[in-house]
Amino acid sequence: MGKVAQQVDLVRIEPANFLQGPSAFRSNGNCSTGQAIGRTFPRPHFPGISSTVISIIDNVRSDRSSFHSDQVTGLPSRVHFQSALHDMITNGVSECAVMFVDLNKFRRINKCFGHQTGDDLLHAAARRLRRFGIEHDAVVGRFGGDEFVLFVHGENDAAALNALAERLVSDFAEPHQLDSLSISVTASVGIARFPIDGTEASQLIQYAHTAMYAAKDMGGQGFRHFAPDMTTRAANSLQIEGRLRQALENNEFSLMFQPIVRPGSPDVLIVETLLRWKNDQNEIVTPDQFIPVAEESGLILDIGRWVLHAACRQASHWRQTRATPIVVSVNASPLQLANPKFCDDVQAAMEAAGLPPALLAIEMTERMMVAEDAIISANICRLTQMGVRVALDDFGTGYSSLSYLTRYQIQCIKIDRSFIDKIECDLQARALVQAIIGIGKSLNVVMVAEGVETQGQAALLESLGCDYLQGYLIGRPVVAEAL
Ligand code: C2E
Ligand code: CA
Ligand code: CA
Repeated sequence: MGKVAQQVDLVRIEPANFLQGPSAFRSNGNCSTGQAIGRTFPRPHFPGISSTVISIIDNVRSDRSSFHSDQVTGLPSRVHFQSALHDMITNGVSECAVMFVDLNKFRRINKCFGHQTGDDLLHAAARRLRRFGIEHDAVVGRFGGDEFVLFVHGENDAAALNALAERLVSDFAEPHQLDSLSISVTASVGIARFPIDGTEASQLIQYAHTAMYAAKDMGGQGFRHFAPDMTTRAANSLQIEGRLRQALENNEFSLMFQPIVRPGSPDVLIVETLLRWKNDQNEIVTPDQFIPVAEESGLILDIGRWVLHAACRQASHWRQTRATPIVVSVNASPLQLANPKFCDDVQAAMEAAGLPPALLAIEMTERMMVAEDAIISANICRLTQMGVRVALDDFGTGYSSLSYLTRYQIQCIKIDRSFIDKIECDLQARALVQAIIGIGKSLNVVMVAEGVETQGQAALLESLGCDYLQGYLIGRPVVAEAL
């Protein structure tokens, strides 16, 4: 985890900042007074909120008894929060919303820095949320683990809640200063609205929880509103997880290989391995459906190990049977790269197959590097030292910081399909691809264009100096025997 010099003041609450929220949350000047964390703050007045509701809010905020509040953060506990929300609803609040907040990758912070740092971070996150709650007249509770809940009263307008959620997510992105450590942790937020999505406290919390998972599925650090089909999707995920557990034992996985060639040449020099799962119902499940579930459940570690072994075996077979060997490029998920034993797994797979490291590449996405995770950096360095190439996948969809290239000795960039899609008709996209290729080449990085589907795209990419092409024009993913 990198140290950031930035100093973040977590506790200062400036009265001047108090009214900076979205206009829907601003006071109309007719203020009453609310008591929170031992200090007195003006309270924005919402028409239609009864004094009973206001006193429920004040009570839940100020009750710090051990019976009602969580020991680590001092926030209202899950039970206390839920019963206050229930009381508010039965006492006639006309509109409100629940926001469910989950810290991304908190488990990893606990694992890397120990439980004390984990607790300190929760404490700091709770302080930040409490401050946010006061600024926006929301009540904050701790749901458990790294999960928090907020209810925002007097508001259920989607646009106003979007502005609030955006602010919450960006507030969270600021690093937390814990003694000598500066730790960044991002948040995923789910929103459920009363009475639009549900009318009972437990139901609203559950729906906000489901929406939070949908936000996580989109890569974390964002928010989603609850939608009824999310419950079906959540149930599907659970079903997939149950079946995935059996899939390895039942030998239900296989690999497809997609060719990567030099422009104008038919010779297949590299292939990307793409995982396929034929489940026990004989249905093909696409990686987009099951990889997120495998990552969420941790099963990706075992599945990824299987992929590495199968890919190395296949590459070794080609090396023995073909005039020109083929490099296999294997996708690795963030959880694998954050595993301190990942390089041992890679080494074991190469040794078991008798494959030289020059015939293996590992694809990782930019998002993995943003967190500046010490284990991920060490793994990338070790892969390079072992002689395994490292490729940056889906380039352009994340932060597109070229500084990663020099910092981590990345040998290959795969420009995302979304840019290649447009290069024939969109001059800006073309200029961007040209610039990426130019910088990559000056840093001695091999450039691959993904998703090449037309002759026009291939010709343009060749003229821009792109080293390799991949896409349906060159070939779709196929079984090994078809190459
Ligand atoms: P990716 O790494 O970006 O892989 C390329 C995806 O784009 C593949 O989809 C491929 O079939 C598709 N594709 C290739 N050329 C074209 C084209 O010209 N046009 C269009 N429209 N699509 C093209 P696939 O096989 O469904 O894989 C989806 C994603 O699943 C992959 O995206 C990768 O992120 C993930 N994945 C696949 N296999 C594995 C694996 O073994 N481990 C991990 N962790 N992730 C994997
Ligand atoms: Ca890939
Ligand atoms: Ca890709």
